[in-house]
Amino acid sequence: MRHSYPAYPAARGNVLLLSCMDLRLLDDIVRFMEHDNLTNRYDQFILAGAALGAVVNDHWNTAFFEHLDVACKLHNVRDVYILEHRNCGAYKVFLGDEGSFDDSHQHHENELHLHNRYAQQLAERIRSWSQTSGNPLQVQCFLMDLRGNVELLADTAAQDEGSAAV
Ligand SMILES: [Zn+2]
Repeated sequence: MRHSYPAYPAARGNVLLLSCMDLRLLDDIVRFMEHDNLTNRYDQFILAGAALGAVVNDHWNTAFFEHLDVACKLHNVRDVYILEHRNCGAYKVFLGDEGSFDDSHQHHENELHLHNRYAQQLAERIRSWSQTSGNPLQVQCFLMDLRGNVELLADTAAQDEGSAAV
């Protein structure tokens, strides 16, 4: 099956990938990273809910940044990929109705905005960590669907999220 992937600047060094633990997407995640020419060039850190887990749970946030620090020291990490995904069970567990979506167009949009909100929050924390720790990092945020297709989560969408009914 051919997948659709977004366009963005290629990773220059190695990558730290934050993904959800969802068992349905493990093969799709490897395929996506291979498509990005990153075979054996990424460390993977897994949290239920990906960015949501790292933002709402202080322990997980600490664990994430400790691992990012080790990854930067050991593996010449230059890019962080935050890979969110649709139909994420952890969003339902952590957020209840706000994190539950049906297949309607409106819910589809709301789901994207909600993932973008948490991904951009974490991306901001990573950028400020990057400045204070002296590790120059770029952050890319993505949303995968259950077929393995991937969209870019852009900063601009985060700016309208205040008006989205999520
Ligand atoms: Zn998930």
